[in-house]
Amino acid sequence: MAILTSMEMDCGQQRFALAAQASLDGFWETDPRTGETRFSPQWQRIAGLEAEEHTATMDHWLDRVHPEDRPELEQRLTALRGGKIDRMESEHRLRHENGRWRWVTARAIAQRDAGGAGQRIAGTMTDQTDRKLTDPATGLPNRLFFIDYLERRFDEAQRSGNWNFAVLSLGLERFKLVNEQLGYEGGDALLAETAARIQAVIEACGCGSVPARLTAADLLVCLENKPGEAQAMEAARVIGDRLRQPFQWRGHTVSPSAALGLAMAGPGVLNAENLMRDADTAHSAAREKGRGHLVCYSQGMRERALARMRMEADLEQALRNHANPGSEGGQTAGGRLVLHYQPEIDLESGRIIGFEALVRWHHPERGLVMPNEFIPLAEETDLILPLGDWGLAEACRQIGEWRELVRKRNPQHVLDLRVSVNLSAKQFGRPGLVACVAEALERAGISASDLRLEVTESSLMSHEDTAQDTMQGLQKLGVGLHMDDFGTGYSSLNHLHRYPFDTLKIDRSFVQAMEEGKSSTEIIRTILGLARSLDMEAVAEGIETAEQAARLQSLGCKLGQGYYFARPMDPEAVTAMLAA
Ligand code: C2E
Ligand code: MG
Ligand code: MG
Repeated sequence: MAILTSMEMDCGQQRFALAAQASLDGFWETDPRTGETRFSPQWQRIAGLEAEEHTATMDHWLDRVHPEDRPELEQRLTALRGGKIDRMESEHRLRHENGRWRWVTARAIAQRDAGGAGQRIAGTMTDQTDRKLTDPATGLPNRLFFIDYLERRFDEAQRSGNWNFAVLSLGLERFKLVNEQLGYEGGDALLAETAARIQAVIEACGCGSVPARLTAADLLVCLENKPGEAQAMEAARVIGDRLRQPFQWRGHTVSPSAALGLAMAGPGVLNAENLMRDADTAHSAAREKGRGHLVCYSQGMRERALARMRMEADLEQALRNHANPGSEGGQTAGGRLVLHYQPEIDLESGRIIGFEALVRWHHPERGLVMPNEFIPLAEETDLILPLGDWGLAEACRQIGEWRELVRKRNPQHVLDLRVSVNLSAKQFGRPGLVACVAEALERAGISASDLRLEVTESSLMSHEDTAQDTMQGLQKLGVGLHMDDFGTGYSSLNHLHRYPFDTLKIDRSFVQAMEEGKSSTEIIRTILGLARSLDMEAVAEGIETAEQAARLQSLGCKLGQGYYFARPMDPEAVTAMLAA
Protein backbone atom coordinates (compact mmCIF):
# COMPACT_ATOMS: atom_id res chain seq x y z
CA MET A 1 0.00 0.00 0.00
CA ALA A 2 1.42 3.27 -1.16
CA ILE A 3 0.85 5.20 1.99
CA LEU A 4 3.11 2.94 3.99
CA THR A 5 5.66 1.92 1.36
CA SER A 6 6.54 5.58 1.03
CA MET A 7 7.79 5.45 4.57
CA GLU A 8 10.57 3.47 6.07
CA MET A 9 9.12 0.16 7.08
CA ASP A 10 10.52 -2.90 8.63
CA CYS A 11 9.50 -6.31 7.42
CA GLY A 12 6.65 -6.55 9.91
CA GLN A 13 5.22 -3.29 8.68
CA GLN A 14 5.34 -4.50 5.09
CA ARG A 15 3.35 -7.56 5.99
CA PHE A 16 0.91 -5.29 7.75
CA ALA A 17 0.62 -3.05 4.69
CA LEU A 18 -0.23 -6.06 2.58
CA ALA A 19 -3.01 -6.97 4.98
CA ALA A 20 -4.20 -3.39 4.85
CA GLN A 21 -4.54 -3.53 1.10
CA ALA A 22 -6.83 -6.52 1.41
CA SER A 23 -8.85 -4.84 4.13
CA LEU A 24 -12.03 -2.87 3.59
CA ASP A 25 -10.85 -0.39 6.19
CA GLY A 26 -9.27 2.89 5.26
CA PHE A 27 -5.91 3.94 6.72
CA TRP A 28 -4.48 7.27 7.68
CA GLU A 29 -1.26 8.46 9.19
CA THR A 30 -0.28 11.82 10.50
CA ASP A 31 2.97 13.47 11.52
CA PRO A 32 2.19 15.29 14.74
CA ARG A 33 4.98 17.80 14.22
CA THR A 34 3.98 19.02 10.74
CA GLY A 35 0.31 17.97 10.72
CA GLU A 36 0.84 16.40 7.31
CA THR A 37 -1.59 13.53 6.93
CA ARG A 38 -1.83 10.76 4.39
CA PHE A 39 -5.12 9.10 3.55
CA SER A 40 -5.20 5.66 1.93
CA PRO A 41 -7.22 5.04 -1.25
CA GLN A 42 -9.82 3.12 0.75
CA TRP A 43 -10.16 6.04 3.20
CA GLN A 44 -10.85 8.25 0.19
CA ARG A 45 -13.34 5.74 -1.19
CA ILE A 46 -15.35 5.73 2.04
CA ALA A 47 -15.69 9.50 1.67
CA GLY A 48 -16.75 9.07 -1.95
CA LEU A 49 -13.53 10.67 -3.25
CA GLU A 50 -11.12 9.54 -5.96
CA ALA A 51 -9.70 6.23 -4.68
CA GLU A 52 -6.05 7.15 -4.62
CA GLU A 53 -3.64 8.11 -1.92
CA HIS A 54 -4.09 11.69 -0.79
CA THR A 55 -1.85 13.90 1.29
CA ALA A 56 -3.28 16.92 3.06
CA THR A 57 -3.79 18.39 6.51
CA MET A 58 -6.17 16.97 9.09
CA ASP A 59 -8.79 19.48 7.90
CA HIS A 60 -9.32 17.31 4.84
CA TRP A 61 -10.96 14.96 7.35
CA LEU A 62 -12.34 17.29 10.00
CA ASP A 63 -14.18 19.48 7.50
CA ARG A 64 -16.23 16.47 6.43
CA VAL A 65 -17.25 15.52 9.97
CA HIS A 66 -20.80 16.18 11.15
CA PRO A 67 -20.79 19.40 13.22
CA GLU A 68 -22.30 17.55 16.19
CA ASP A 69 -19.56 14.92 16.16
CA ARG A 70 -16.56 17.11 15.33
CA PRO A 71 -15.72 18.53 18.79
CA GLU A 72 -15.37 15.11 20.34
CA LEU A 73 -13.17 13.79 17.52
CA GLU A 74 -10.95 16.87 17.66
CA GLN A 75 -10.62 16.56 21.40
CA ARG A 76 -9.45 12.96 21.12
CA LEU A 77 -7.00 13.70 18.33
CA THR A 78 -5.54 16.56 20.35
CA ALA A 79 -5.13 14.32 23.39
CA LEU A 80 -3.40 11.71 21.24
CA ARG A 81 -1.08 14.27 19.68
CA GLY A 82 -0.29 15.82 23.03
CA GLY A 83 0.67 12.46 24.52
CA LYS A 84 -2.24 12.46 27.00
CA ILE A 85 -3.54 9.17 25.61
CA ASP A 86 -1.89 6.39 23.61
CA ARG A 87 -4.86 5.23 21.58
CA MET A 88 -8.27 6.45 20.65
CA GLU A 89 -11.52 5.38 19.06
CA SER A 90 -14.22 7.62 17.66
CA GLU A 91 -17.54 6.95 16.00
CA HIS A 92 -18.76 9.84 13.91
CA ARG A 93 -20.58 10.85 10.76
CA LEU A 94 -18.50 11.64 7.70
CA ARG A 95 -19.95 13.50 4.75
CA HIS A 96 -19.84 11.46 1.58
CA GLU A 97 -19.33 13.26 -1.75
CA ASN A 98 -22.98 12.50 -2.57
CA GLY A 99 -23.97 14.67 0.39
CA ARG A 100 -25.15 11.84 2.64
CA TRP A 101 -23.70 10.93 5.98
CA ARG A 102 -21.62 7.77 6.40
CA TRP A 103 -21.15 6.36 9.88
CA VAL A 104 -17.49 5.55 10.49
CA THR A 105 -15.31 4.36 13.34
CA ALA A 106 -11.75 5.72 13.47
CA ARG A 107 -9.17 3.98 15.62
CA ALA A 108 -5.61 5.23 16.12
CA ILE A 109 -2.44 4.57 18.01
CA ALA A 110 0.52 6.90 18.69
CA GLN A 111 4.13 5.90 18.37
CA ARG A 112 6.50 7.89 20.55
CA ASP A 113 10.25 8.43 20.66
CA ALA A 114 12.36 7.73 23.71
CA GLY A 115 11.56 11.21 25.09
CA GLY A 116 7.83 10.53 24.90
CA ALA A 117 7.14 12.96 22.05
CA GLY A 118 4.72 11.72 19.37
CA GLN A 119 6.60 10.52 16.30
CA ARG A 120 3.77 9.12 14.33
CA ILE A 121 0.04 8.57 14.69
CA ALA A 122 -1.54 5.92 12.54
CA GLY A 123 -5.03 4.58 12.39
CA THR A 124 -7.87 2.92 10.55
CA MET A 125 -11.25 4.06 9.37
CA THR A 126 -14.11 1.54 9.23
CA ASP A 127 -17.33 2.23 7.39
CA GLN A 128 -20.16 1.27 9.75
CA THR A 129 -22.97 2.76 7.74
CA ASP A 130 -24.68 -0.46 6.78
CA ARG A 131 -24.57 -1.81 10.31
CA LYS A 132 -25.55 1.50 11.78
CA LEU A 133 -28.38 2.35 9.43
CA THR A 134 -29.88 -1.06 8.79
CA ASP A 135 -32.32 -2.89 10.96
CA PRO A 136 -31.01 -6.45 11.31
CA ALA A 137 -34.42 -8.11 11.75
CA THR A 138 -35.97 -6.76 8.56
CA GLY A 139 -33.01 -5.59 6.51
CA LEU A 140 -34.83 -2.25 6.16
CA PRO A 141 -33.15 1.08 6.85
CA ASN A 142 -33.59 2.11 10.45
CA ARG A 143 -34.75 5.25 12.19
CA LEU A 144 -31.38 7.03 11.90
CA PHE A 145 -31.37 6.53 8.18
CA PHE A 146 -34.97 7.65 7.84
CA ILE A 147 -34.44 10.87 9.76
CA ASP A 148 -31.41 11.72 7.67
CA TYR A 149 -33.32 10.90 4.48
CA LEU A 150 -36.31 12.99 5.49
CA GLU A 151 -34.21 15.96 6.53
CA ARG A 152 -32.51 15.98 3.15
CA ARG A 153 -35.88 15.55 1.48
CA PHE A 154 -37.09 18.64 3.31
CA ASP A 155 -34.04 20.66 2.26
CA GLU A 156 -34.63 19.61 -1.32
CA ALA A 157 -38.35 20.49 -1.19
CA GLN A 158 -37.59 23.87 0.33
CA ARG A 159 -35.27 24.60 -2.58
CA SER A 160 -37.47 23.21 -5.37
CA GLY A 161 -40.91 23.90 -3.90
CA ASN A 162 -41.85 20.32 -4.77
CA TRP A 163 -43.70 18.92 -1.75
CA ASN A 164 -44.94 15.74 -3.35
CA PHE A 165 -44.21 13.38 -0.49
CA ALA A 166 -45.83 12.13 2.69
CA VAL A 167 -44.89 10.09 5.73
CA LEU A 168 -46.81 6.96 6.58
CA SER A 169 -46.44 5.70 10.13
CA LEU A 170 -47.69 2.17 10.56
CA GLY A 171 -47.72 -0.37 13.34
CA LEU A 172 -48.55 -4.05 13.32
CA GLU A 173 -51.41 -4.59 15.71
CA ARG A 174 -51.47 -7.24 18.42
CA PHE A 175 -47.83 -8.00 17.70
CA LYS A 176 -47.30 -9.09 21.27
CA LEU A 177 -49.94 -11.72 20.77
CA VAL A 178 -48.16 -12.96 17.64
CA ASN A 179 -44.95 -13.28 19.65
CA GLU A 180 -46.83 -15.23 22.29
CA GLN A 181 -48.49 -17.49 19.73
CA LEU A 182 -45.60 -18.09 17.36
CA GLY A 183 -42.62 -17.35 19.59
CA TYR A 184 -40.05 -14.64 18.94
CA GLU A 185 -38.83 -16.46 15.85
CA GLY A 186 -42.31 -16.33 14.40
CA GLY A 187 -42.62 -12.66 15.40
CA ASP A 188 -39.34 -11.89 13.61
CA ALA A 189 -40.56 -13.80 10.58
CA LEU A 190 -43.74 -11.72 10.50
CA LEU A 191 -41.66 -8.55 10.70
CA ALA A 192 -39.47 -9.69 7.84
CA GLU A 193 -42.56 -10.58 5.84
CA THR A 194 -44.07 -7.18 6.61
CA ALA A 195 -40.92 -5.50 5.31
CA ALA A 196 -41.00 -7.64 2.18
CA ARG A 197 -44.66 -6.81 1.56
CA ILE A 198 -44.04 -3.09 1.89
CA GLN A 199 -41.02 -3.34 -0.41
CA ALA A 200 -43.10 -5.24 -2.94
CA VAL A 201 -45.79 -2.55 -2.99
CA ILE A 202 -43.17 0.16 -3.35
CA GLU A 203 -41.42 -1.66 -6.17
CA ALA A 204 -44.69 -2.31 -7.97
CA CYS A 205 -45.57 1.38 -7.98
CA GLY A 206 -42.03 2.38 -8.96
CA CYS A 207 -42.40 5.62 -7.03
CA GLY A 208 -39.10 5.43 -5.15
CA SER A 209 -40.68 5.45 -1.70
CA VAL A 210 -38.46 4.68 1.26
CA PRO A 211 -39.44 2.35 4.12
CA ALA A 212 -37.75 2.08 7.50
CA ARG A 213 -38.23 0.22 10.74
CA LEU A 214 -38.66 2.46 13.73
CA THR A 215 -39.06 0.26 16.81
CA ALA A 216 -40.55 -3.16 17.59
CA ALA A 217 -43.56 -3.37 15.28
CA ASP A 218 -43.61 0.25 14.09
CA LEU A 219 -42.47 1.23 10.63
CA LEU A 220 -42.27 4.39 8.59
CA VAL A 221 -42.54 4.92 4.88
CA CYS A 222 -41.71 8.09 3.03
CA LEU A 223 -44.22 7.92 0.19
CA GLU A 224 -42.64 9.61 -2.81
CA ASN A 225 -44.22 11.15 -5.90
CA LYS A 226 -47.58 11.70 -4.27
CA PRO A 227 -48.68 15.15 -5.38
CA GLY A 228 -51.86 15.10 -3.31
CA GLU A 229 -53.55 13.57 -0.31
CA ALA A 230 -55.77 11.33 -2.43
CA GLN A 231 -52.79 9.67 -4.10
CA ALA A 232 -50.93 9.24 -0.82
CA MET A 233 -54.01 7.79 0.89
CA GLU A 234 -54.47 5.36 -1.99
CA ALA A 235 -50.85 4.18 -1.67
CA ALA A 236 -51.28 3.80 2.08
CA ARG A 237 -54.48 1.83 1.54
CA VAL A 238 -52.69 -0.56 -0.82
CA ILE A 239 -49.97 -1.12 1.78
CA GLY A 240 -52.59 -1.69 4.51
CA ASP A 241 -54.46 -4.20 2.31
CA ARG A 242 -51.28 -6.06 1.55
CA LEU A 243 -50.34 -6.29 5.21
CA ARG A 244 -53.74 -7.73 6.07
CA GLN A 245 -53.17 -10.87 4.02
CA PRO A 246 -52.84 -14.03 6.15
CA PHE A 247 -49.37 -14.98 7.27
CA GLN A 248 -48.32 -18.62 7.49
CA TRP A 249 -45.67 -19.82 9.87
CA ARG A 250 -44.83 -23.47 10.48
CA GLY A 251 -48.36 -24.65 10.08
CA HIS A 252 -49.90 -21.68 11.90
CA THR A 253 -51.86 -18.92 10.23
CA VAL A 254 -52.21 -15.47 11.68
CA SER A 255 -54.22 -12.57 10.30
CA PRO A 256 -52.05 -9.51 10.75
CA SER A 257 -53.30 -5.97 10.53
CA ALA A 258 -51.78 -2.55 10.82
CA ALA A 259 -52.90 0.83 12.06
CA LEU A 260 -51.79 3.48 9.55
CA GLY A 261 -51.34 7.20 10.00
CA LEU A 262 -50.49 9.50 7.11
CA ALA A 263 -49.14 13.05 7.11
CA MET A 264 -48.60 15.10 3.96
CA ALA A 265 -45.50 17.23 3.59
CA GLY A 266 -46.01 20.85 2.71
CA PRO A 267 -44.50 24.28 3.18
CA GLY A 268 -46.62 24.65 6.32
CA VAL A 269 -44.88 21.76 8.03
CA LEU A 270 -41.81 23.13 9.73
CA ASN A 271 -39.38 20.26 9.48
CA ALA A 272 -38.88 16.52 9.15
CA GLU A 273 -39.39 15.95 12.83
CA ASN A 274 -42.79 17.68 12.77
CA LEU A 275 -43.88 15.65 9.77
CA MET A 276 -42.96 12.40 11.54
CA ARG A 277 -44.78 13.59 14.63
CA ASP A 278 -47.92 14.40 12.61
CA ALA A 279 -47.84 10.94 11.05
CA ASP A 280 -47.46 9.50 14.51
CA THR A 281 -50.45 11.46 15.80
CA ALA A 282 -52.53 10.15 12.88
CA HIS A 283 -51.25 6.65 13.66
CA SER A 284 -52.46 6.95 17.26
CA ALA A 285 -55.83 8.19 16.04
CA ALA A 286 -56.05 5.18 13.71
CA ARG A 287 -55.24 2.81 16.58
CA GLU A 288 -58.00 4.30 18.68
CA LYS A 289 -60.55 3.56 15.97
CA GLY A 290 -60.07 -0.18 16.20
CA ARG A 291 -58.20 -2.65 14.03
CA GLY A 292 -56.75 -1.93 10.61
CA HIS A 293 -57.67 1.73 10.25
CA LEU A 294 -56.02 4.39 8.13
CA VAL A 295 -56.18 8.01 9.24
CA CYS A 296 -54.80 11.10 7.56
CA TYR A 297 -53.47 13.82 9.82
CA SER A 298 -55.58 16.94 9.94
CA GLN A 299 -55.42 20.29 11.64
CA GLY A 300 -56.74 20.00 15.15
CA MET A 301 -55.74 16.38 15.55
CA ARG A 302 -52.57 17.35 17.31
CA GLU A 303 -54.42 19.80 19.55
CA ARG A 304 -56.84 17.05 20.46
CA ALA A 305 -53.99 14.63 21.14
CA LEU A 306 -52.31 17.23 23.34
CA ALA A 307 -55.56 17.91 25.16
CA ARG A 308 -55.91 14.20 25.82
CA MET A 309 -52.36 14.01 27.13
CA ARG A 310 -53.03 16.94 29.40
CA MET A 311 -56.23 15.37 30.60
CA GLU A 312 -54.42 12.12 31.33
CA ALA A 313 -51.77 13.95 33.33
CA ASP A 314 -54.44 15.92 35.20
CA LEU A 315 -56.42 12.80 36.01
CA GLU A 316 -53.29 11.13 37.28
CA GLN A 317 -52.65 14.18 39.43
CA ALA A 318 -56.22 14.15 40.74
CA LEU A 319 -55.77 10.52 41.77
CA ARG A 320 -52.48 11.40 43.41
CA ASN A 321 -54.25 14.17 45.34
CA HIS A 322 -56.57 11.55 46.76
CA ALA A 323 -53.77 9.12 47.52
CA ASN A 324 -51.86 11.82 49.45
CA PRO A 325 -54.51 13.93 51.11
CA GLY A 326 -51.78 15.78 52.99
CA SER A 327 -50.24 17.28 49.86
CA GLU A 328 -52.58 20.25 49.77
CA GLY A 329 -50.36 21.99 47.25
CA GLY A 330 -51.56 19.46 44.69
CA GLN A 331 -55.20 20.17 45.35
CA THR A 332 -55.57 22.74 42.63
CA ALA A 333 -53.50 20.99 39.97
CA GLY A 334 -55.53 18.03 38.74
CA GLY A 335 -58.52 18.84 40.92
CA ARG A 336 -60.59 16.26 42.78
CA LEU A 337 -62.89 13.39 42.00
CA VAL A 338 -66.26 13.19 43.70
CA LEU A 339 -69.03 10.67 43.73
CA HIS A 340 -72.53 11.91 43.11
CA TYR A 341 -75.44 9.74 44.12
CA GLN A 342 -78.59 9.15 42.14
CA PRO A 343 -81.53 7.73 44.12
CA GLU A 344 -83.09 4.43 43.14
CA ILE A 345 -86.82 4.55 43.73
CA ASP A 346 -89.55 2.12 44.65
CA LEU A 347 -92.01 3.09 41.92
CA GLU A 348 -95.09 2.27 43.97
CA SER A 349 -94.27 4.08 47.20
CA GLY A 350 -91.88 6.65 45.76
CA ARG A 351 -89.44 5.72 48.52
CA ILE A 352 -85.69 5.88 48.01
CA ILE A 353 -84.30 2.38 48.36
CA GLY A 354 -80.71 3.09 47.43
CA PHE A 355 -78.29 5.16 45.38
CA GLU A 356 -76.05 4.66 42.41
CA ALA A 357 -72.63 6.21 42.88
CA LEU A 358 -71.54 8.13 39.76
CA VAL A 359 -68.14 9.67 39.53
CA ARG A 360 -67.50 13.31 38.58
CA TRP A 361 -64.31 15.27 38.29
CA HIS A 362 -63.93 18.79 39.66
CA HIS A 363 -61.31 20.06 37.26
CA PRO A 364 -59.55 23.31 38.17
CA GLU A 365 -60.11 24.85 34.73
CA ARG A 366 -62.89 22.86 33.13
CA GLY A 367 -65.27 22.72 36.06
CA LEU A 368 -67.39 19.64 36.61
CA VAL A 369 -66.37 16.96 34.11
CA MET A 370 -68.77 14.08 33.43
CA PRO A 371 -67.67 10.45 33.34
CA ASN A 372 -68.21 9.96 29.60
CA GLU A 373 -65.46 12.55 29.09
CA PHE A 374 -62.83 10.77 31.14
CA ILE A 375 -63.84 7.16 31.86
CA PRO A 376 -62.96 6.01 28.31
CA LEU A 377 -59.55 7.70 28.61
CA ALA A 378 -59.04 6.17 32.03
CA GLU A 379 -59.92 2.77 30.57
CA GLU A 380 -57.34 3.14 27.84
CA THR A 381 -54.56 4.25 30.11
CA ASP A 382 -55.22 1.89 33.02
CA LEU A 383 -55.88 4.89 35.26
CA ILE A 384 -59.27 3.24 35.65
CA LEU A 385 -57.68 0.86 38.15
CA PRO A 386 -56.67 3.44 40.77
CA LEU A 387 -59.83 5.39 39.88
CA GLY A 388 -61.95 2.29 40.49
CA ASP A 389 -60.14 1.55 43.76
CA TRP A 390 -60.75 5.07 44.90
CA GLY A 391 -64.46 4.98 43.89
CA LEU A 392 -65.05 1.71 45.70
CA ALA A 393 -63.33 2.88 48.87
CA GLU A 394 -65.04 6.26 48.76
CA ALA A 395 -68.53 4.79 48.26
CA CYS A 396 -67.97 2.37 51.16
CA ARG A 397 -66.69 5.15 53.37
CA GLN A 398 -69.71 7.28 52.49
CA ILE A 399 -72.18 4.49 53.29
CA GLY A 400 -70.48 4.07 56.69
CA GLU A 401 -70.71 7.80 57.34
CA TRP A 402 -74.41 7.95 56.44
CA ARG A 403 -75.19 4.93 58.61
CA GLU A 404 -73.45 6.57 61.51
CA LEU A 405 -75.29 9.84 60.94
CA VAL A 406 -78.70 8.14 60.97
CA ARG A 407 -77.78 5.98 63.98
CA LYS A 408 -76.70 9.02 66.00
CA ARG A 409 -79.94 10.86 65.24
CA ASN A 410 -82.14 7.92 65.97
CA PRO A 411 -80.48 4.85 67.50
CA GLN A 412 -83.58 2.74 66.85
CA HIS A 413 -83.62 3.46 63.15
CA VAL A 414 -81.83 1.03 60.90
CA LEU A 415 -80.96 2.74 57.63
CA ASP A 416 -82.09 0.53 54.80
CA LEU A 417 -80.05 1.89 51.94
CA ARG A 418 -77.82 0.27 49.44
CA VAL A 419 -75.26 1.91 47.22
CA SER A 420 -74.31 0.64 43.77
CA VAL A 421 -70.84 1.15 42.37
CA ASN A 422 -69.99 0.75 38.69
CA LEU A 423 -67.12 -1.59 37.86
CA SER A 424 -65.15 -1.03 34.68
CA ALA A 425 -64.16 -3.96 32.50
CA LYS A 426 -60.50 -3.73 33.51
CA GLN A 427 -61.38 -3.57 37.16
CA PHE A 428 -63.64 -6.55 36.77
CA GLY A 429 -60.93 -8.57 35.05
CA ARG A 430 -58.25 -7.72 37.54
CA PRO A 431 -57.02 -10.57 39.74
CA GLY A 432 -57.68 -9.93 43.39
CA LEU A 433 -60.87 -7.93 42.85
CA VAL A 434 -62.77 -9.97 45.44
CA ALA A 435 -60.10 -9.38 48.09
CA CYS A 436 -60.03 -5.71 47.17
CA VAL A 437 -63.80 -5.39 47.68
CA ALA A 438 -63.59 -7.30 50.97
CA GLU A 439 -60.91 -4.92 52.17
CA ALA A 440 -62.92 -1.82 51.22
CA LEU A 441 -65.93 -3.16 53.14
CA GLU A 442 -63.85 -3.95 56.18
CA ARG A 443 -62.06 -0.66 56.22
CA ALA A 444 -65.36 1.23 56.07
CA GLY A 445 -66.92 -1.07 58.66
CA ILE A 446 -69.99 -1.79 56.55
CA SER A 447 -71.58 -5.08 55.67
CA ALA A 448 -71.45 -6.61 52.20
CA SER A 449 -75.21 -6.29 51.79
CA ASP A 450 -74.82 -2.48 51.84
CA LEU A 451 -72.93 -2.63 48.59
CA ARG A 452 -73.97 -3.52 45.03
CA LEU A 453 -71.62 -3.78 42.11
CA GLU A 454 -72.74 -2.95 38.58
CA VAL A 455 -71.19 -5.04 35.86
CA THR A 456 -71.89 -4.76 32.14
CA GLU A 457 -72.16 -7.64 29.74
CA SER A 458 -69.15 -6.42 27.82
CA SER A 459 -67.07 -6.70 31.01
CA LEU A 460 -68.15 -10.32 31.29
CA MET A 461 -67.33 -10.90 27.64
CA SER A 462 -63.87 -9.35 27.90
CA HIS A 463 -62.95 -11.62 30.79
CA GLU A 464 -64.85 -14.78 30.07
CA ASP A 465 -62.13 -17.01 31.47
CA THR A 466 -62.17 -15.45 34.94
CA ALA A 467 -65.72 -14.05 35.06
CA GLN A 468 -67.27 -17.12 36.64
CA ASP A 469 -64.78 -17.23 39.54
CA THR A 470 -64.95 -13.49 40.10
CA MET A 471 -68.74 -13.42 40.13
CA GLN A 472 -68.94 -16.37 42.49
CA GLY A 473 -66.33 -14.84 44.78
CA LEU A 474 -68.32 -11.60 44.93
CA GLN A 475 -71.54 -13.47 45.56
CA LYS A 476 -69.93 -15.42 48.39
CA LEU A 477 -68.79 -12.17 49.88
CA GLY A 478 -72.44 -11.16 50.00
CA VAL A 479 -72.40 -8.05 47.79
CA GLY A 480 -75.31 -7.49 45.42
CA LEU A 481 -74.64 -7.89 41.71
CA HIS A 482 -76.37 -5.75 39.09
CA MET A 483 -76.18 -6.33 35.41
CA ASP A 484 -75.93 -2.80 34.03
CA ASP A 485 -77.29 -1.47 30.74
CA PHE A 486 -79.15 -4.68 29.98
CA GLY A 487 -80.37 -4.82 26.42
CA THR A 488 -77.58 -2.80 24.85
CA GLY A 489 -74.87 -5.43 24.70
CA TYR A 490 -75.06 -9.04 23.73
CA SER A 491 -78.06 -9.59 25.97
CA SER A 492 -77.32 -13.21 26.04
CA LEU A 493 -79.61 -15.30 28.18
CA ASN A 494 -76.53 -17.30 28.91
CA HIS A 495 -75.05 -14.38 30.85
CA LEU A 496 -78.09 -13.99 33.03
CA HIS A 497 -78.28 -17.67 33.60
CA ARG A 498 -74.64 -18.44 34.21
CA TYR A 499 -73.72 -15.64 36.56
CA PRO A 500 -75.27 -14.93 39.96
CA PHE A 501 -76.84 -11.53 39.22
CA ASP A 502 -79.62 -10.48 41.54
CA THR A 503 -80.68 -7.34 39.67
CA LEU A 504 -81.01 -6.38 36.07
CA LYS A 505 -80.89 -2.73 35.02
CA ILE A 506 -82.95 -2.00 31.93
CA ASP A 507 -81.04 0.44 29.79
CA ARG A 508 -82.49 3.89 29.48
CA SER A 509 -82.64 3.71 25.68
CA PHE A 510 -85.63 1.32 25.97
CA VAL A 511 -87.35 3.49 28.55
CA GLN A 512 -86.91 6.55 26.40
CA ALA A 513 -88.09 4.80 23.26
CA MET A 514 -91.29 3.60 24.90
CA GLU A 515 -93.30 6.52 23.55
CA GLU A 516 -92.03 6.03 20.04
CA GLY A 517 -93.28 2.58 19.42
CA LYS A 518 -94.65 -0.66 20.59
CA SER A 519 -91.43 -2.59 20.18
CA SER A 520 -89.61 -0.94 23.09
CA THR A 521 -92.55 -1.60 25.35
CA GLU A 522 -92.54 -5.21 24.25
CA ILE A 523 -88.81 -5.50 24.89
CA ILE A 524 -89.28 -4.10 28.40
CA ARG A 525 -92.15 -6.48 29.02
CA THR A 526 -89.96 -9.39 27.90
CA ILE A 527 -87.02 -8.28 30.05
CA LEU A 528 -89.30 -7.95 33.07
CA GLY A 529 -90.69 -11.44 32.45
CA LEU A 530 -87.18 -12.75 32.15
CA ALA A 531 -86.13 -11.15 35.43
CA ARG A 532 -89.18 -12.54 37.19
CA SER A 533 -88.60 -16.06 35.97
CA LEU A 534 -84.95 -15.90 37.04
CA ASP A 535 -85.97 -14.48 40.39
CA MET A 536 -84.16 -11.19 39.81
CA GLU A 537 -85.11 -7.60 40.55
CA ALA A 538 -85.35 -5.17 37.66
CA VAL A 539 -84.52 -1.46 37.76
CA ALA A 540 -85.53 0.78 34.87
CA GLU A 541 -82.91 3.43 34.14
CA GLY A 542 -83.41 6.94 32.76
CA ILE A 543 -87.04 7.64 33.72
CA GLU A 544 -87.63 11.26 32.75
CA THR A 545 -91.41 11.65 32.83
CA ALA A 546 -94.39 10.72 34.97
CA GLU A 547 -95.84 8.86 31.97
CA GLN A 548 -92.77 6.67 31.68
CA ALA A 549 -92.89 5.90 35.39
CA ALA A 550 -96.61 5.00 35.20
CA ARG A 551 -96.14 2.91 32.07
CA LEU A 552 -93.28 0.97 33.63
CA GLN A 553 -95.30 0.35 36.73
CA SER A 554 -98.20 -0.95 34.69
CA LEU A 555 -95.79 -3.34 33.01
CA GLY A 556 -94.83 -4.69 36.44
CA CYS A 557 -91.57 -2.84 36.92
CA LYS A 558 -91.06 -2.16 40.63
CA LEU A 559 -87.87 -0.12 40.73
CA GLY A 560 -86.60 2.83 38.76
CA GLN A 561 -84.12 5.62 38.54
CA GLY A 562 -84.09 8.81 36.51
CA TYR A 563 -84.20 12.58 36.30
CA TYR A 564 -87.97 12.48 36.89
CA PHE A 565 -87.29 11.42 40.49
CA ALA A 566 -83.88 12.92 41.08
CA ARG A 567 -80.70 13.79 39.30
CA PRO A 568 -77.42 12.52 40.71
CA MET A 569 -76.81 14.62 43.87
CA ASP A 570 -73.63 15.66 45.53
CA PRO A 571 -72.90 13.91 48.84
CA GLU A 572 -73.76 17.02 50.89
CA ALA A 573 -77.26 17.07 49.40
CA VAL A 574 -77.78 13.42 50.29
CA THR A 575 -76.45 14.03 53.80
CA ALA A 576 -78.88 16.94 54.26
CA MET A 577 -81.71 14.78 53.01
CA LEU A 578 -80.86 11.93 55.40
CA ALA A 579 -80.45 14.34 58.30
CA ALA A 580 -83.93 15.67 57.61
P1 C2E B 1 -74.54 4.06 34.02
O1 C2E B 1 -73.89 3.19 35.03
O2 C2E B 1 -75.53 3.44 33.14
O3 C2E B 1 -75.16 5.28 34.81
C1 C2E B 1 -76.35 5.88 34.49
C2 C2E B 1 -76.14 7.15 33.72
O4 C2E B 1 -77.40 7.63 33.31
C3 C2E B 1 -75.54 8.25 34.57
O5 C2E B 1 -74.75 9.04 33.72
C4 C2E B 1 -76.76 9.02 35.00
O6 C2E B 1 -76.49 10.37 35.36
C5 C2E B 1 -77.58 8.96 33.75
N1 C2E B 1 -79.00 9.17 34.00
C6 C2E B 1 -79.69 8.88 35.08
N2 C2E B 1 -80.98 9.21 34.94
C7 C2E B 1 -81.11 9.73 33.72
C8 C2E B 1 -82.21 10.26 32.97
O7 C2E B 1 -83.34 10.33 33.42
N3 C2E B 1 -81.95 10.70 31.72
C9 C2E B 1 -80.72 10.64 31.19
N4 C2E B 1 -80.53 11.09 29.94
N5 C2E B 1 -79.66 10.16 31.86
C10 C2E B 1 -79.85 9.69 33.12
P2 C2E B 1 -73.31 9.52 34.11
O8 C2E B 1 -73.22 9.86 35.54
O9 C2E B 1 -72.92 10.52 33.11
O10 C2E B 1 -72.48 8.20 33.92
C11 C2E B 1 -72.32 7.64 32.65
C12 C2E B 1 -71.66 6.30 32.72
O11 C2E B 1 -70.33 6.43 33.20
C13 C2E B 1 -72.33 5.34 33.70
O12 C2E B 1 -73.43 4.74 33.08
C14 C2E B 1 -71.22 4.37 33.96
O13 C2E B 1 -71.12 3.44 32.94
C15 C2E B 1 -70.00 5.26 33.90
N6 C2E B 1 -69.59 5.59 35.26
C16 C2E B 1 -70.04 6.55 36.09
N7 C2E B 1 -69.40 6.51 37.28
C17 C2E B 1 -68.50 5.51 37.19
C18 C2E B 1 -67.52 4.95 38.08
O14 C2E B 1 -67.35 5.38 39.23
N8 C2E B 1 -66.78 3.91 37.63
C19 C2E B 1 -66.96 3.39 36.39
N9 C2E B 1 -66.18 2.36 36.01
N10 C2E B 1 -67.86 3.87 35.53
C20 C2E B 1 -68.63 4.91 35.92
MG1 MG C 1 -74.47 1.93 36.34
MG1 MG D 1 -76.62 1.88 33.27
